[in-house]
Amino acid sequence: MSEAARTVMIRNVSNVIPIYHMQSFKLPDVTIKKLNYAQQAFWRNKKTNKDLQNPSQPKQGCSVSHNYTHVHQLFTVGTAEWDKDLLNILFSVTIVDFILSISIHPARSDRMIWILEKNESFSVKSSYHKMMQESSLSQPVDIRMSKIYCRLWKLPTLPRIKHFLWKAISDLLSTKNVLGPAVVGEDDSCPMCNLHPESATHLIMNCTFSRAIWFATLGWTSNSTGSLQEWIASWFDILQNGSIKEAEIINRVIIAWNIWTTRCNKVLQQKNPTPEVIIQQCKTLMDEHTLMTYNSLQPSLRVNRVNVH
Ligand SMILES: [Zn+2]
Repeated sequence: MSEAARTVMIRNVSNVIPIYHMQSFKLPDVTIKKLNYAQQAFWRNKKTNKDLQNPSQPKQGCSVSHNYTHVHQLFTVGTAEWDKDLLNILFSVTIVDFILSISIHPARSDRMIWILEKNESFSVKSSYHKMMQESSLSQPVDIRMSKIYCRLWKLPTLPRIKHFLWKAISDLLSTKNVLGPAVVGEDDSCPMCNLHPESATHLIMNCTFSRAIWFATLGWTSNSTGSLQEWIASWFDILQNGSIKEAEIINRVIIAWNIWTTRCNKVLQQKNPTPEVIIQQCKTLMDEHTLMTYNSLQPSLRVNRVNVH
């Protein structure tokens, strides 16, 4: 499941869980507060959202902070101005300066707002975009890769295959070396050959199982000594200079995707088809793709082809 889908699911599930009980019982305020806190804690988690900061905390040693629970208590009584003396008692200098920079609007009541949306209401979409923006700022994509990603998402093939390709070129496939011993335990060997540690590069390019698939379907195997990411990126480089056609890229992706799904089926569902079956699946999918492209590009020929049969 994609990161975006997981985010939506977490939000929906965490909202839906209490609804059944709420239909029958009035939940205590304490429980509702805890439910809200659990959701807020998720979004404030540094791993899930680096941009959201925890609310300002009172400075250490301040013994009266628990007396203040509302913003208006920080105003000078009878005015709409911050009580500077009180702020200095409660908070550090940095936080006091920050609070003093906030304008007070006495005619409006306090409420929580989400500044990433015009309607000031929280949305998973804006939160997700902000997270992606932050991560792309910390890991800038170079121009070459940017062009490759752009071309990748425009490939005329199934979304699931494009998504697999994106994960492969971004080094995001969940192989044993990525998951680590905490998830997969002691056995880090490739499930297809049991001879080498499993990595995406080994599984798709170098494993004896996958080399047999590549050779049987395309008549060659990779002679690249680099990583899977570099190998796939090189496909788009030679596509760019016209040495191969887009259909060739799609054939390669179909084979890599079939190797990956075979591996996943073996690990997760204990299915173990023979290489002949996998080779036939690859050829069928490649033929279907060629036919689909043929039909969409040349409708007049498609009619003739139908007539022949
Ligand atoms: Zn292997």
